Amino acid sequence: MGSRVVMHTDMNSFFASVEQSYNPELKGKPVVVTGSQQRTVILTSSYEARKFGIKTGMMLHEAKRLCPDVIMVPADNRKYTHTSAVIMKMMLDYTPLVEVFSIDEAFMDVTHSLSIFTSAENIAYLLKARIKHQFDITCSIGIAPNKLLAKLASEMKKPDGLTIITPDTVKATLEHMPIKELCGIGRKMERHLNMMGIYTCGDLGRCDEGRLTRKFGIIGSRLKQMGQGNDDSPVIPADDADEVKSVGHSMTLKRDISSRNEILRYLLQLSEMVGRRARRYGVAGKTVHLTIRYADFSTFGKQETLSPVALLTSLLSSFTATRLALSKFLVLLVANESDHFLGCQRRICRNVTPTKVNQFRWTNQRRRSG
Ligand SMILES: [Mg+2]
Repeated sequence: MGSRVVMHTDMNSFFASVEQSYNPELKGKPVVVTGSQQRTVILTSSYEARKFGIKTGMMLHEAKRLCPDVIMVPADNRKYTHTSAVIMKMMLDYTPLVEVFSIDEAFMDVTHSLSIFTSAENIAYLLKARIKHQFDITCSIGIAPNKLLAKLASEMKKPDGLTIITPDTVKATLEHMPIKELCGIGRKMERHLNMMGIYTCGDLGRCDEGRLTRKFGIIGSRLKQMGQGNDDSPVIPADDADEVKSVGHSMTLKRDISSRNEILRYLLQLSEMVGRRARRYGVAGKTVHLTIRYADFSTFGKQETLSPVALLTSLLSSFTATRLALSKFLVLLVANESDHFLGCQRRICRNVTPTKVNQFRWTNQRRRSG
């Protein structure tokens, strides 16, 4: 494959920017967006608020202490989804290869658009100008030979950045780049690599592959490739994306809980919501995924695939199946005395007022109708 040109666009402090765009009175002011139900945790903050040291995940009272004039706005997901959809649609004017990565991030493969728009840089400026004009929102864009590096590049300058990594500058860019900057290397992986004496992407790219595979299994060779800035994963437009869809629901709890029965009660409530949604879409699934997120945004997740029997899903039994999987999941965890579960219980007890988002992801097999 010849050299590709991939762009990664990341909206800056998206929720807060959207709020400022809808309500010009908020412009230039320290704004924080909190959860729509539980309004004590900060989901995101404007750059004006960040200057005071306000950060995502912080409690509202902490933010108020740092900046007494901070303006609190409860999250309004409809606004964000709408704005996101309009922006993602703009991207389609430059290439059909647009992959939505999250509500405020997307990849574009513009390799074959360069003959029309002269350069990727040009496309980036056009896109930035349009987003700025329509919503007064800035974004950071990274341009690079692949997705891994484009994402890295967009992170390098915020807000309103444009960073270009060309095949010639890959090596120099990565040499002293901390490994945690690479998308896919989390805190845990970083710790493991640090213990092996690997701190920068340069270190990782030079590391003996055997050492990495002995430690991490098949991911080992992928890690080495990442350290060298190699990534041949394609930009997958929504139309071609896997037919597999998921149905999920999440909630932020109002207070800490640690009793098993209480946890179960929330889980059942969530599964009921997922079941309801699945029935509405007329879909059935076989994998249930559970995620718990703590106040510090560390996340713990487990999934369970159901037996084929549970797949016999009439609209009604999708709910029953979720419940079945969950009870099995909990029993499984307790029976194994899983570190995770104990760990999570401990942390639930220790945190004073954490956010916990429980989410079920129900991987669906779209049922064919006729
Ligand atoms: Mg962003």
